[in-house]
Amino acid sequence: MAETIFSRIIAGDIPCYRVYEDDRVLAFLDINPLSRGHTLIVPKEAAETLDQLSDESAAAIGRCLPRIARAVLAATGATSYNVLQNNGAAAHQAVAHVHFHLIPKQGDGAGLGMVWRPTDLPAAEGEKLAREVAEKIAD
Ligand code: AMP
Repeated sequence: MAETIFSRIIAGDIPCYRVYEDDRVLAFLDINPLSRGHTLIVPKEAAETLDQLSDESAAAIGRCLPRIARAVLAATGATSYNVLQNNGAAAHQAVAHVHFHLIPKQGDGAGLGMVWRPTDLPAAEGEKLAREVAEKIAD
């Protein structure tokens, strides 16, 4: 995988405001935060998108995410937050190394803004699609 700004941070070539590190995970403050406490949680494994990440790195992230969330809430006073994870340029991924955003929602409204356009899921489509995805998981 090509070098990215995050692989260079993980290698120690570029500084960051580090908040957590273990064998598989590094977490640091986003350099252009949407709100105070905006934190990035990054696997050290070089994977571009979440679907390419190993079970081991995914488990390591899952283990530390709630702990980091509690710490960011305690440090910032926020009580609500979003976890955002972009994959692919069309989905607003700018850095091609898997990362999770933890974005506190602050009282002044700062935080993640989103446009949510719900549609209908007809029963026939729901049954067909769920079956197809379940089969792919079982493959
Ligand atoms: P995404 O659009 O999901 O790929 O988000 C990439 C995030 O990385 C953005 O929120 C950037 O502000 C952040 N970012 C880019 N370079 C750095 C850096 N050197 N240190 C910390 N955060 C960074």
